[in-house]
Amino acid sequence: SVGTSADVEVEAAPVSAKYTKLFIDGQFVDALSGKTFDTLDPRNGELIAKVAEADKEDVDLAVQAARKAFDEGPWPRLSGYERGRILFKYADILEQHADELAALETLDNGKPVQYARQLDVAGAVRIMRIFAGYADKISGRSVKMDGSYQGYTLHEPIGVVGQIIPWNFPLVMFATKVSPALACGNTVILKPAEQTPLTALYAAHLATEVGLPPGVLNVLPGFGPTAGAAIASHIGIDKVSFTGSTEVGRKIMIAAANSNLKPVTLELGGKSPLIILDDADLDLAVQLSYMAIFFNQGQVCCAGSRIFVQEGIYDAFLKKSIELAKQRVIGDPFKGGVEHGPLVDQLQLKTVMGYIESGKEEGANLVIGGNQIGSKGYYVEPTIFADVQDNMKIAKEEIFGPVMSVFKFKSVEEIIQRANNTNYGLAAGIVTKNIDLANRFSRSIRAGIIWINCYHIVDPSLPFGGYKMSGIGRENGEYVLQNYLQVKAVVTPLYDSPW
Ligand code: ADP
Repeated sequence: SVGTSADVEVEAAPVSAKYTKLFIDGQFVDALSGKTFDTLDPRNGELIAKVAEADKEDVDLAVQAARKAFDEGPWPRLSGYERGRILFKYADILEQHADELAALETLDNGKPVQYARQLDVAGAVRIMRIFAGYADKISGRSVKMDGSYQGYTLHEPIGVVGQIIPWNFPLVMFATKVSPALACGNTVILKPAEQTPLTALYAAHLATEVGLPPGVLNVLPGFGPTAGAAIASHIGIDKVSFTGSTEVGRKIMIAAANSNLKPVTLELGGKSPLIILDDADLDLAVQLSYMAIFFNQGQVCCAGSRIFVQEGIYDAFLKKSIELAKQRVIGDPFKGGVEHGPLVDQLQLKTVMGYIESGKEEGANLVIGGNQIGSKGYYVEPTIFADVQDNMKIAKEEIFGPVMSVFKFKSVEEIIQRANNTNYGLAAGIVTKNIDLANRFSRSIRAGIIWINCYHIVDPSLPFGGYKMSGIGRENGEYVLQNYLQVKAVVTPLYDSPW
């Protein structure tokens, strides 16, 4: 719990890593260099497994396989119905292995296994099913043209797609990227984050059991500046989709522009405001803020990392928020009932502790937490800073940790301006009973998703993505299909037809 300095006791993990090599052309293979890297257990920093480390030459091999699968293979030529059937089977087999996948996700990432099972794995299965369902519903239009011509559009897959994903929701990210790309008939080269390669590799193994042709899906664990950069700059890759930091997103776009101008989809960082008005239901406001920033130990791109509370409710909000944070169950993420596990790795621990120090130095009021728990593993207490000022570093930069920043405000006009005063624009929340105000906020806040009296409600049927420097393009919903299709116009003359 908050305030203890003892090491968190952890038991032996209930799962081990079976798939640790590169997955290219339907086979697990070593890296050409023979190199491996360590993936560590965030509960105690111990080695889980050595994983093959892809570099440029391995990306070249994967591109050859994915190109062949696209240019000559059956995948893009199958009917949408046939592709959908395979993806539905893929969803089923992921679901059949849910317990093992959830345990592996917890082992590699540190998130409580109850959430890994109910949210991550169940979410990934659902995402796969939704896009399996889109596979046979992709079609173009016919266009009546001026003069004696008819035109129609073909919605064609783009080709070989490179996908680079982060470590905070490894399996959900895998499904979010891979399933729409495959549904549209593309072939894929995916690089999981170096911190969390294990569930994507396990999922790659399952792909071999459902009849996905070799080369259609390739999974290359490795590091960003090597394997990741090789994907972004490869001339044999037709499209790149990235989720991660804004800083790396910029590099991806530059690499894409400098190579073959491949189109880019980016889902980047955030500094999302959650605005609580005086008329809000206090308990709801406290619950939502708690979940908005502490869920997944704060390692969420749309985390509610700026909580703006109107002055009339401010003191009561703070008091209850502190009480709730105290009750948070911290511990071994494999233990039942645990809500709060370790951060993903040593670097993230250092970054988050650095932001906590900076908050203290700049004069924010630390009202609870603020410490690492124990010295083994990467646990950080749920932490709350009150009286945060807009110009502080913790108010401006993405922390990606369990650190709530609470700001006070007076008027509605003021708060719209302050909420928008950021380079980011991923998400925003508002808690109020006043529908007119809620409507005004939803239209005035420049962000890709607005939650009214709720938070973190995402759904594969609803588009997700950023305004401003939070990204380009949308994932999920029908909108994501545009990322993985290109449109061809076909024209023929019309002879002897009065119609
Ligand atoms: P985070 O801050 O969440 O770790 P990053 O943006 O650093 O996010 O990493 C997200 C993904 O981008 C990871 O898979 C990482 O390996 C990859 N990556 C990092 N640097 C680069 C790069 N220069 N080019 C391509 N991919 C990169």
